Amino acid sequence: MNFDSFPIAAIATAPGRGGIGVVRISGKHLTPVMQALCGTSELKPRHANYLSFLNADGSIIDQGLAIYFKAPHSYTGEDVLELQGHGGPVVMQMLLARCLQAGEEIGLRLAQPGEFTHRAFLNDKLDLAQAEAVADLIEASTEAAAKSASQSLSGAFSKTIHALVEQVINLRMLVEATLDFPEEEIDFLEKSDARGQLERIRASLDHVFKQASQGALLREGLSVVLAGQPNVGKSSLLNALAGSDVAIVTPIAGTTRDKVIETIQIEGIPVNIIDTAGIREEDEAHDEVERIGIARTWGAVDKADVILHMLDASRGPTRGDEQIMSRFPATIPIIRIWNKIDLSGHKSAVDRMSDATHIYLSAAEKTGIDLLRAELLRIGGWQQTGESLYLARERHLLALKAAQQHLDTAAELAEQSDQALDLFAEELRIAQDRLNSITGEFTSDDLLGVIFSRFCIGK
Ligand code: GDP
Ligand code: ZN
Repeated sequence: MNFDSFPIAAIATAPGRGGIGVVRISGKHLTPVMQALCGTSELKPRHANYLSFLNADGSIIDQGLAIYFKAPHSYTGEDVLELQGHGGPVVMQMLLARCLQAGEEIGLRLAQPGEFTHRAFLNDKLDLAQAEAVADLIEASTEAAAKSASQSLSGAFSKTIHALVEQVINLRMLVEATLDFPEEEIDFLEKSDARGQLERIRASLDHVFKQASQGALLREGLSVVLAGQPNVGKSSLLNALAGSDVAIVTPIAGTTRDKVIETIQIEGIPVNIIDTAGIREEDEAHDEVERIGIARTWGAVDKADVILHMLDASRGPTRGDEQIMSRFPATIPIIRIWNKIDLSGHKSAVDRMSDATHIYLSAAEKTGIDLLRAELLRIGGWQQTGESLYLARERHLLALKAAQQHLDTAAELAEQSDQALDLFAEELRIAQDRLNSITGEFTSDDLLGVIFSRFCIGK
């Protein structure tokens, strides 16, 4: 990732044809580009100006709106020029090329993925958690995920983290003050109610962690493997699970959807179902591309949250079933689905046994499907709290967990008789650092590079 400060340009709208397309330019001294494209160097900031976008020879590329945002009142915090033209790929390319040409003297270059948002972060328009929420909002695959991404983007998650940090700082100040007057150390914990304060912080942190885990589930979704012999009813089950929700689920931007992975949603949670019937073994691949695809799918199988092993309740298990199950890691929980209970005479039911959870249902008659849905949510750790959630990432959960562990250690130290206050203080300091990493205070350039490079270009 580039950290230079030259002006950048990119097509900000999605590739393909659309009513409107936007080329966005951000940086210092954009006057030459404005003059060349818009025929004036004095566009009034934050006003929509209808005009012609001009070629070097004065001919017209397109007509549209030019909007100028003067620093710091823009998305990036820099001067920004937005050219809204007609959304065809060729027009947009011509417009972008013309901008780069006109901006040569100011060093204008193509933006890298996420670079506009990266600059917004560097210029304090957003913190890191909010910047991540921008990408998560764009990539949200269900309405519930989009809602909670927007919640994080608005700063609600960051605010909660800041409030926690504030509490830790207050306790640290108390401790550090006591460290300066060692004779009072003995009853410091009593007098200042430091233990009580610590307990309250730990309770708030636990609550935030729970909310964030739920949010992470909305972002990552559940990964489910569907296995079973031919004709046990796997396709029928997929259809029954998808129900009427299937239309609302959209593939995540930037990924080509594998035919063997079907995404449905249950209560807003994306559930990615890998139908193993559709996966060949790697050595059956026709070419390198297919081999990589197959390897990737089996890789996803190994990381699945749960395996659905489907059997025909009217016939019972066969020898092939053992073979099928030997393909999966023993560490992944299994739900054994006994299908076709309309033929076998079983009642729909959930039976939690030591080897696996057994569910009796009929995919064709759609009885017992809700039992399976509920069981999937339970395994995913989904609890409906009615609270608005923050769309959290794995990175956030790890930081929250680390902070929790250091506060746990602090609590243990507080119980010891010699009360090593300096160690206690150190644990608080580390917990604070971990919390701060969520919103991006003192984050390394490497981590920033990784985070922003996963954005799409133009964002
Ligand atoms: P797959 O090969 O595992 O994907 O199985 P399919 O979903 O294609 O189903 C195989 C056959 O079993 C089809 O004829 C389905 O109509 C039938 N089938 C699926 N589920 C049920 C069920 O719950 N009850 C009955 N009676 N038939 C079912
Ligand atoms: Zn099938």
